[in-house]
Amino acid sequence: MVKKKKRWGRGWELINANEEAELNEAGRKGSKRGRSIPGLSMAAVTGLLARRRGGIGAWTFQCLRRLHTVYQTVELPETHQMLRQTCRDFAEKELAPIAAQLDKEHRFPAEQVKKMGSLGLFAMDVPEKYGGAGLDYLAYSIAVEEISRGCASTGVIMSVNNSLYLGPILKFGSEEQKQKWIAPFTNGDKIGCFALSEPGNGSDAGAASTVARLVGDEWVLNGTKAWITNAWDASATVVLATTDKSLKHKGISAFLVPMPTPGLSLGKKEDKLGIRASSTANLIFEDCRIPKANLLGEQGMGFKIAMQTLDSGRIGIASQALGIAQAALDCAVDYAEKRVAFGSPITKLQAIQFKLADMALALESARLLTWRAAMLKDNGKPYTKEAAMAKLSASEAATSISHQVSLCLLVPMSTEGEALPVRTAGMLLAYMEQETQPKSLSLDRSVTVATNESL
Ligand SMILES: Cc1cc2nc3c(=O)[nH]c(=O)nc-3n(C[C@H](O)[C@H](O)[C@H](O)COP(=O)(O)OP(=O)(O)OC[C@H]3O[C@@H](n4cnc5c(N)ncnc54)[C@H](O)[C@@H]3O)c2cc1C
Repeated sequence: MVKKKKRWGRGWELINANEEAELNEAGRKGSKRGRSIPGLSMAAVTGLLARRRGGIGAWTFQCLRRLHTVYQTVELPETHQMLRQTCRDFAEKELAPIAAQLDKEHRFPAEQVKKMGSLGLFAMDVPEKYGGAGLDYLAYSIAVEEISRGCASTGVIMSVNNSLYLGPILKFGSEEQKQKWIAPFTNGDKIGCFALSEPGNGSDAGAASTVARLVGDEWVLNGTKAWITNAWDASATVVLATTDKSLKHKGISAFLVPMPTPGLSLGKKEDKLGIRASSTANLIFEDCRIPKANLLGEQGMGFKIAMQTLDSGRIGIASQALGIAQAALDCAVDYAEKRVAFGSPITKLQAIQFKLADMALALESARLLTWRAAMLKDNGKPYTKEAAMAKLSASEAATSISHQVSLCLLVPMSTEGEALPVRTAGMLLAYMEQETQPKSLSLDRSVTVATNESL
């Protein structure tokens, strides 16, 4: 018992004795048989997640990392299913009811971020020794999807901290940097951001015009980074800057910069069409001085760091898009079942059935691509192409499903005339909360759709 307490770390008491025995027995059986772990109760997974520092037992998840492969997409391992349910419950209870309001007010969900941090969702694949949950990328993808299903803003806040901020430090940081720049960013108290894009350089990451000069024992940064997610709420950033312009992309280096810090200011929050609870803003560096030790990896390694970071980031953003798409589809199905026309629910109409089937097909295909990219990463295989395919497929599914929902099943969701594809999952759920009976309205396309005057 004492031994197990040490292994599982803080919070062992959250699991009762029976569950503990069940877990350990199940873990042993699972690892021997090369199958998922049977017999884990929901309470056990919730308890395990709640033990952020202990995370889900490292040995158990090291087994899982080996167990799931690209060929095992028929069914998720049981622990991942339970993680999924835990995140789904959290999103439905804590995020969906406030998502629309957060979006409208551009309000960072600080309280919810802290709760998610205590569940281990802000450092999912970070080893326990740095305060992470010690999970894998498949688990991360599942969690981001479920969180985004309730609130797409919160999904991207979580995704950027996991993939874009912690990811490169975990992979390229020194031991000292990991202790300093990872550990405090694992429990939702602090979050980070990643600054690569510039007003003139987005896709062309090798053309960074932000410069870093070594002056004595300090790097001095000058330049502007654009579209930086989490900018207003972050306590640190990974920044890419040119240290030797003549070397082009081989002259780019990565740096760790605390926020706020003298010489670094923030631009205005971009007024996006959705995911507005996640701040997006410029980072402006004007003679911003940071210690020499804040170089991440080696000098000139920045482009490689950025490209590898973006590969993982694409899995996170694909997962966020899956959550949005799933929320839209849920909304469509629910509405079509309730809406009665010509004496029966419109789900009886083949035109509607075809649309719902197409949506489900696009969503499921994108999900499998995303899980495949995550599993390739978990298995140490190349996944650049698959992550890019997943992000493209999932974001197109989210856009087209939302579009279909808005055009064919529902009226536009906003009185301001914004199209649904750019609205967040939160808006859809806000609609769902309004349980008043919809009224029918004929549009000039001769399609009978429904509306609710209070929308
Ligand atoms: C909400 C949001 C959040 C963001 N968060 C971050 C963040 O946290 N950190 C960060 O660093 N950046 C962030 N970005 C920036 C984002 O990564 C850039 O928008 C992206 O890199 C594209 O850059 P760009 O806008 O300059 O487009 P451009 O590079 O000008 O591209 C314009 C178009 O040309 C196409 N194109 C460009 N090059 C090629 C090529 N070689 N072949 C074919 N087509 C090409 C592109 O696909 C695109 O359609 C964010 C952007 C948004 C909208």
